[in-house]
This record gives sequence, C-alpha cells and structure tokens, in this order.
Amino acid sequence: MITRQFGIPVTSPGAILRRERDLGTPLGQETAEVLQRGDLVSDKIIIELIEDWLRLHGGHGFVFDGFPRTLPQAESLTSILARLRTALDLAIWLEVSEQTVRDRISGRLQCGACGFTTSVKCAKFAERPVCPYCDGPLVRRTDDDMTVLQKRLSEFETKTQPLASFYGKMSILHRIDGNRDRETVFSDISRLIEGKAPA
Ligand SMILES: [Zn+2]
Repeated sequence: MITRQFGIPVTSPGAILRRERDLGTPLGQETAEVLQRGDLVSDKIIIELIEDWLRLHGGHGFVFDGFPRTLPQAESLTSILARLRTALDLAIWLEVSEQTVRDRISGRLQCGACGFTTSVKCAKFAERPVCPYCDGPLVRRTDDDMTVLQKRLSEFETKTQPLASFYGKMSILHRIDGNRDRETVFSDISRLIEGKAPA
C-alpha cells in the first residue's frame, strides 16, 4: 500500500469510490453495484472523480494508484493535466503473472471501513483480523470469486494492456517485476517516486 510518506497526496479511484459509498451518495451506491458484478466503473465517472480530486488537491505532486486503467482515461488525464499546466513524470507498470494474481487474491483481507488490504498469510492479522489503521473488521473481499477474477483479467488484456505502449511512447513508462515480495516491490516504487518528488 502506497502511503503519504512521499509528502505528496496519493489516491486511487477505489478509495474515492469507497468514500462515496460510505457517504451513501447515489454515485457511491450505483458504482458499488457495478463493482460487485466485477465490471469496471465507466470511464466517464472515473474521469470526473479524478478531475474533482485534482481540483481539490492541486495538480502539482500526486500519485494515482490504479489509474488510469483504460486508453480513454489516459487520454483524458493528459488533457486535464495540460489544462493544469502540468504533466506526468512517471507511469509505473507492475508486471505480475496470472498465477501471482490468483494466489494473492485468494488470500486477501480488506478492511471494511478504510480499504486497507493485507494477506491471510500475514500472521498478526490472521490471528486477530482487525485493521491497524482504523480498527475496522478485516474481511475477505466480496469480489474475490474466480468468475470476477476471470472477467477482470480479460478486461485487463483488452482495456489496460494498451496503456503500456501509450506511456512507452511518452518515454515515462517504468516496468517493475511485481511478482517479488511486497517490501522489495515497494522499495523499487519508492526509489522511482522519490527520484521525481520535490524535496
Ligand atoms: Zn481500516
């Protein structure tokens, strides 16, 4: 989990949507149903949420986790940032095998309140499934079944994979082997971001 330790705001569409759901907004309820089915929330909605977020937090110094996921999202982000007179410094591509994805999802625990995720293999959480950040209950994610996973994998192939060449052409793409343990992957990501973050 990427934290605020870089001194710049970090967010993901998932975090924004969970907040909408918890606030009980119509948008939050609608998107919760979409996610439950394993579908992706529409580009239009995601882009609006991100644009609002950027307006609130400023377009200079931020990390998006899990966004953009589609070509239309990436193109919209480019024009939103152009309007804010800024641009992306980095696009980090975490490469993981299908087996790694399966192993991780089948053992994933998530906080029902704040969205913190961990693994059932992490002994201290298996024993007492309570969130270290907010004391919320750690539960297996409801969208964890394999039908949903299959759908996500094929969505990834058709919609997300093209982003590798999109950001490759902009010369900001950095690939990281995400099959390794969490700490190693995190320290690689940190090094890349710290190399770009303002001191
Ligand atoms: Zn929590």
